[in-house]
Amino acid sequence: MMNFTKTVLHNLCSKPVTRPYPQEPREYPQRTRGHIAVNIDTCIFCGLCSKKCPTGAITVNRAEKTWSIERFGCIQCGSCVENCHNKSLSMMQSYTQPDAVKNVDTYTQPTKDEPADQ
Ligand code: SF4
Ligand code: SF4
Repeated sequence: MMNFTKTVLHNLCSKPVTRPYPQEPREYPQRTRGHIAVNIDTCIFCGLCSKKCPTGAITVNRAEKTWSIERFGCIQCGSCVENCHNKSLSMMQSYTQPDAVKNVDTYTQPTKDEPADQ
């Protein structure tokens, strides 16, 4: 009984150990492997990232100048980032948002007159 009272009093005087998510978004540690971002402006569509991806999540179309990724097929191994000689890929800290369908995100290199896809 004494132990129980001590625990209750301690918890009443302490800050909660949980976070009020999503009101207070989580700050990710610096080296978190969240999701892959592509700088489509510098991509040369060599396809090396696609060849080195162990899950086949990346598709590169050189003719149409598109770079695609199936987000839920990615296991955040970082192999594509390491193998892109152009440094067009980077690992971002935030995770892919949950979804009910497996979407493929496609990025198209713009012509000189139009802005890049986001
Ligand atoms: S390895 Fe880099 S430059 Fe080559 S297709 Fe992939 S992102 Fe583009
Ligand atoms: S991080 Fe790994 S699994 Fe994800 S796209 Fe890159 S190579 Fe493929």
